Amino acid sequence: MNNKKTEIPVAMLTRKFYCHKCGEKLSVEGDTETLTPSDPEYTKYNKLGRNRRMIGAVDVTTYHFECEKCNTAISFDEQWVIEAIQKMVGKQTLTDEEISAKRSKAEAKIGQKKKLTYVLGYGIAILVGVAVIALLVIYG
Ligand SMILES: [Zn+2]
Repeated sequence: MNNKKTEIPVAMLTRKFYCHKCGEKLSVEGDTETLTPSDPEYTKYNKLGRNRRMIGAVDVTTYHFECEKCNTAISFDEQWVIEAIQKMVGKQTLTDEEISAKRSKAEAKIGQKKKLTYVLGYGIAILVGVAVIALLVIYG
């Protein structure tokens, strides 16, 4: 069994976001990718707390938004910008022109805020052997 690591921005769980194409509420979808020590991204995800590292492959799950009505998929970071523009313009559906006209202003506005939007990340290292021994000790 691989180690598991899940990263999801807190706002994704606590707030509603709306599709800029059709106005529908967006749903949260997860993607899981298995990273092995030979992957360049591996060391970014095998951290476990400040000083410890997981050994072996890590199943990394990250999340994005999807609109079930019009099949739009969008990253959290992009939707975060879109949401700022939706607020500026005062409506949910946006044209490409509105997005490009307001993008830099929106990005500047959220630049500082975004750094404070922490990512809820948790890693679970599962050592099957240890778990079995613990169960035997507890229930044995
Ligand atoms: Zn949509």
